[in-house]
Amino acid sequence: MPLFPKKIPVNGRSVSRIISELERHKHGAADWKNGRTFSLVFYAGEEGLQAAKSAYDLFFSENALNPSAFPGLKEMEMEVVSMVAGLTDAPKSATGTMTSGGTESILMAVKSCREWFFSKRAESVKPNMIVADSAHPAFEKAAHYFGIDYRVVPVNDQLEADPAAMEAAVDSDTMMIVASAVSYPFGILDPVESIAKIAKRYKLWMHVDACIGGMVLAFCKKAGHRTRPWNFKVRGVSSMSVDLHKYGYAAKGASVVLYRNRTLRRFQFFVTTDWPGGIYASPSLLGTRPGGAIAAAWAVMHFYGLNGYSRLTKEILENTEFIKQKVREIPELYIIGNPEITLIAIGSDTLDIFHIADYLSAKGWYFDRCQSPPAIHLTIGPSHSVVREDFITDLEESVNTAKEDQAGHNRNQRKIRFIKNLTEKLPGQSGNRLLRLAAKLTGSSVPKKSAAMYGMMGELPDRKNIKEMILDILDKMFERR
Ligand SMILES: *Cc1c(COP(=O)(O)O)cnc(C)c1O
Repeated sequence: MPLFPKKIPVNGRSVSRIISELERHKHGAADWKNGRTFSLVFYAGEEGLQAAKSAYDLFFSENALNPSAFPGLKEMEMEVVSMVAGLTDAPKSATGTMTSGGTESILMAVKSCREWFFSKRAESVKPNMIVADSAHPAFEKAAHYFGIDYRVVPVNDQLEADPAAMEAAVDSDTMMIVASAVSYPFGILDPVESIAKIAKRYKLWMHVDACIGGMVLAFCKKAGHRTRPWNFKVRGVSSMSVDLHKYGYAAKGASVVLYRNRTLRRFQFFVTTDWPGGIYASPSLLGTRPGGAIAAAWAVMHFYGLNGYSRLTKEILENTEFIKQKVREIPELYIIGNPEITLIAIGSDTLDIFHIADYLSAKGWYFDRCQSPPAIHLTIGPSHSVVREDFITDLEESVNTAKEDQAGHNRNQRKIRFIKNLTEKLPGQSGNRLLRLAAKLTGSSVPKKSAAMYGMMGELPDRKNIKEMILDILDKMFERR
């Protein structure tokens, strides 16, 4: 129970009291420092973390909105951009900006592409963009925000973006085509070269999303791991996104969006000259931009350097190889597709993988779940070196427990089918209520109930209803207290 009332205090409190209250707010948090999380946090050791924190602290108050006030910040930002350009084999002409994260980088690339499209075409045209269904939701978000027709093409049976299917979706209003390097759900590197050929053939803007893969792929060669082409070396790539707050191990709020040349980047900038407050110019989506995130990214990149990142890359590729090998030795499990680097998804043909996932969660592991195909999702990092054996032991145990209550699971499946049939016959809100009831019904024998929830959601044909339900859940989660 929090000690503080939910109103702003009349008199301020002491820092020490506030800090101890803050510590209490760490309750229930995923244990990322000890390698128990396979998502959300990227941690490569205490020294690098301290480098980032000290740098963030030094530039805690500075604002990168107006570069003339803090020239040093602008210098660091452009040095970070140059470093990342170097790591992505970008030509000399390439440039970019830092952003607050992968989503902002992608929003900016899509927005720039739209302006580029409208520089040649009438504003009455509704442009479209073509992405594989494995692309990050940030692209759909961008399309949604910027009024672009979003065309999703299923991946092939290797779970790679399918160039032929993507080409078939191109028409005269297509502005952008996307490749992931790598895709989040299955860690797959899309065929960047083949997609670039389509981009060139139809004069499309091509974006390579290396948000999560970029800072690993860039060091693979040095770590002795061969990969297919993925970056600006491939002609036809117009822009790229590379997050530093993932495998760059920087402070959160740090990503880079790169363009092949300045002409393309210019479409990103926003300027208004008529505001009573004066001429307002902003390079990216945010207004106020935290200086700390820029300084921390700059510091961490200098702290690790090429050799540090290569060593970390080697280590995390080895962790991944270890986990993949061990998973393959468990007959009920398999690795989905052929993941390129350090993101993998584990599926099962004979057991309900979400059921296994629930037991694994109950043992204190935190990870994501993919829905099609159903899978346990792992983003593997340096913190897993010391826990990888424990993880496999717990995974094996979870598989065995799930096997034991297979019968219960079958009962759940029958309930899900029953409810699925019912919801098909029910309109709007009543369907929602039923979904909630179903979660209760089917989840009874499962530790965290996600098996039932995911199983049910995967089976329900009515995606709209699910969306409404998730909106309800979000609304409830962010309830005032
Ligand atoms: C994480 C990620 C993003 C989005 O980045 P955020 O920093 O979460 O906004 C985009 N694409 C891929 C492939 C990612 O893994």
